[in-house]
Amino acid sequence: MPLIALATLGGTISMAPADAGGGAVPRLGAADLLGGLGDLPMDVLAETLAGIGSASMDFATLMRCRDWGLRQDADGFVVVQGTDTLEETAYFLDLGWPSEIPVVVTGAMRNSGLFSPDGPANLRNALTVAADPRSRGRGVLVTLNDDVHAARWVRKAHSSHLDAFSSAPAGPLGMVVENAVHYFHPSPPRPPVLTGGDFGGLVPVVEAGLDDSGAVLSSVAAQPEVRGVVIAATGAGHVSSGTADVIARLVPSLPVVVASRTGAGPTLRSTYGFHGSESSLIAMGATMAGWLDARKARILLHTLLAAGAARDDIEREFRARGDLD
Ligand code: ASP
Repeated sequence: MPLIALATLGGTISMAPADAGGGAVPRLGAADLLGGLGDLPMDVLAETLAGIGSASMDFATLMRCRDWGLRQDADGFVVVQGTDTLEETAYFLDLGWPSEIPVVVTGAMRNSGLFSPDGPANLRNALTVAADPRSRGRGVLVTLNDDVHAARWVRKAHSSHLDAFSSAPAGPLGMVVENAVHYFHPSPPRPPVLTGGDFGGLVPVVEAGLDDSGAVLSSVAAQPEVRGVVIAATGAGHVSSGTADVIARLVPSLPVVVASRTGAGPTLRSTYGFHGSESSLIAMGATMAGWLDARKARILLHTLLAAGAARDDIEREFRARGDLD
């Protein structure tokens, strides 16, 4: 039987009300979650590494989780955490996962105190995907609600629905049906592994919007801990004229990455020419995130900075990982 390593970090899947009528809090560890699944066609080596809401997830916990998973030398690795930041966890682990062994991240939308919680089915599916040899070499996968997603594309697109995760516009990689994974697409080649060293400092996301003078960006970027900034820009990578002035001032000394705040579609490169347009920001020296949304751009930029990347490396990596050309 295949051996699967299972690390739990908390989240709704591990939550139940603390007392009658109370809100759900993390209470269940790896053994509890596994205990609800009955007999399985794999051996599972389970460990509770944390019990937190995923809004509190951090790089240090994820690096500890990655190292634990690598040490187990299993055939697959399942990571259980809250869905709120699951897309960031999956992308972060994907950037730095150095092995052919599949990693599958899962969670749940309904805690165990609600009717028809989805945690047990999601965990069972994640173990199935991790144990399947056809999952090897695909990097980090996400499975919820019977879909299998690539870390590169997946995002939480609904706050409460069971069908909360979307890989639009690429679509899911596959599905779990009757305890078997069905892949729709072959795995694209994986980019080189990227692991950071020093994750200290801050890489904030600043969202552009109406009546935006650039004052927020200016004040955020003035904080000494800030190592780079991601702009969740309007449309295809546009900011106000005031924010464009601030970006022009910042780029010589601070990496500025521009993503689209729309939730779908890439930043453009050469369609618009007004002050604050994508082409004007590129001319100033800003880096475009391409198809990566601002959340994933933040994870990539912080990892690059933690790895000591220079400005050219940042530009090259975003071209390679964010654009499809
Ligand atoms: N609602 C969240 C979840 O789905 C809570 C969290 O992310 O920890 O798990």
